[in-house]
Amino acid sequence: MPEQEKKKRVLVVEDEKNIAMLLAYNLMQAGYAYEVANDGEEGLRKALTGTFDLILLDLMLPKMDGFEVCRRIRKKLSTPIIIATARVEEVDKVMGLDIGADDYVTKPFPMNELMARIKANIRRSSNEMVNAAAESENDVITIRSLVIDTAKYQVTRDDEPLELTKKEYELLCFMAKNQGTIYSREQLLEEVWGYEGFYGDTSSVDVTVSRLRSKLEHDTSKPEYLFTKRGVGYYIK
Ligand code: CA
Repeated sequence: MPEQEKKKRVLVVEDEKNIAMLLAYNLMQAGYAYEVANDGEEGLRKALTGTFDLILLDLMLPKMDGFEVCRRIRKKLSTPIIIATARVEEVDKVMGLDIGADDYVTKPFPMNELMARIKANIRRSSNEMVNAAAESENDVITIRSLVIDTAKYQVTRDDEPLELTKKEYELLCFMAKNQGTIYSREQLLEEVWGYEGFYGDTSSVDVTVSRLRSKLEHDTSKPEYLFTKRGVGYYIK
């Protein structure tokens, strides 16, 4: 939950103090946390040791130029990098060199455009991370000898496939993804039945739970997976 509220962090690698200050001010106004590095070496060090959501990188920098900084960051991190360059002719070089930059802006940059680019690049990269995490997480859910393969829509217990109806499967998946959370019948109706649930009543939840349980459990009177919290609801653990 606090993920969205947490301030995104931007590293500004910029040797011109005035520009750095202007960027810092605008980032702060836009709700970002920021750090400034005044030369290439400091920029690289900060990029590799801090956890930034985006790096804004000048090209012409003392100690190590932006090309080199970018290349070295890319060897270790996939943090989005926006290159800021004063010379339009450098843009081709930036893109052609394949140093791993995600975007570029030319100086002097209109601040609102730069802020929009920063926002878009951060959003894209966090979406990619969420998707990657979701894919790896959601493929297979294992609860002891119960294995739910969501990519194949297949459920096995003790390596034996279980024949579930669509609704039983959806109910199982929903609760298995939220293991330990107790759901009331009304919540399950809303989450799993959704629109249909609007016309249904909570007894369809009880019926589906009971059928699912008879397929899931060795002994329905001593459940190992699908539990009832009396007077509250159901949960999987
Ligand atoms: Ca510079």
